[in-house]
This record gives sequence, C-alpha cells and structure tokens, in this order.
Amino acid sequence: MERLSWDQYFMAQSHLLASRSTCTRLFVGATIVRDKRIIAGGYNGSIAGGPHCSDEGCYMIDGHCARTIHAEMNAILQCAKFGESTDGAELYVTHYPCVQCCKSIIQAGIKSVYYAKDYKNHPYAEELFRTAHVYVKKVPFDKVIELKQVNNTAQ
Ligand SMILES: [Zn+2]
Ligand SMILES: [Zn+2]
Repeated sequence: MERLSWDQYFMAQSHLLASRSTCTRLFVGATIVRDKRIIAGGYNGSIAGGPHCSDEGCYMIDGHCARTIHAEMNAILQCAKFGESTDGAELYVTHYPCVQCCKSIIQAGIKSVYYAKDYKNHPYAEELFRTAHVYVKKVPFDKVIELKQVNNTAQ
C-alpha cells in the first residue's frame, strides 16, 4: 500500500469532517495544522446545541444560510475556545474559502491555505490572500483510503 502524503492525510481529515456537516447546502470540512500536528477541525454546522439545517431546513437571509457557521470559522473558533494559537498555522479545507472566512483566516495569522475544490473563488478573496502574503494552493483530494486493507494488514 502506498504511503499517504501529509497533504493527502490532512485533506482526508477535512473530507472526513465534511461528512459531519449539518447544512445540506454544502458539505465543507476544515483542518488547522501546526508543525504537522492537527490542532483543530470544523465543518459547516449550527451553533452547539442549536437546531440543524438537515432537520429544520436552512435559515435563509439574502441567499445565504444564516444558521451555518462555516467550517473554517468553526476550526478557528475551536482554537479560540481552547486557547490554541493559530499564528503561522496551515489550513486544509475541502472548498475555496468565502470572503468572510478569507478575512478571518488572514486575521488569525494562518499562513497557508490548501483547498481541494474550487468554489465560487471570489476575486476579492484572492486579492486579500495575495495582499496578506498567505500561500494558497489547490491540493485535489484523490486518495481513496482503503481502511479495509489497513485492517487486514494489521491482523
Ligand atoms: Zn443551512
Ligand atoms: Zn466561509
């Protein structure tokens, strides 16, 4: 079995998180990494204890779901909550970040953004990342992780 690269490993983690999304509009997952160590993760979902879009439908305001906290924000806020510094960290995310998340990513001191899929890549987000010298790279997620195979090997 081919050894998984760090990029694909962290991207796999983000895709696993995306499968936990409760806003059915888009399944997004994000992982924050420092020194090859996962420090936080998030997915598109409601506030803790709040109703899920998947149960009650989205709460739409001006064409956006107001209930959902984006995966990137959830990951950053997890660091805020538990006192983990995001300065100089890397972010792995399933989709290109929106303008709001872009600003929060920059302001949190995150220095690299790896995303798997283009998604309405806004020119303003691209400009902001460029101005802030955040390294942005598309890393398509192309690995099918064969857990069955891993299990069999371990036995
Ligand atoms: Zn929603
Ligand atoms: Zn966003």
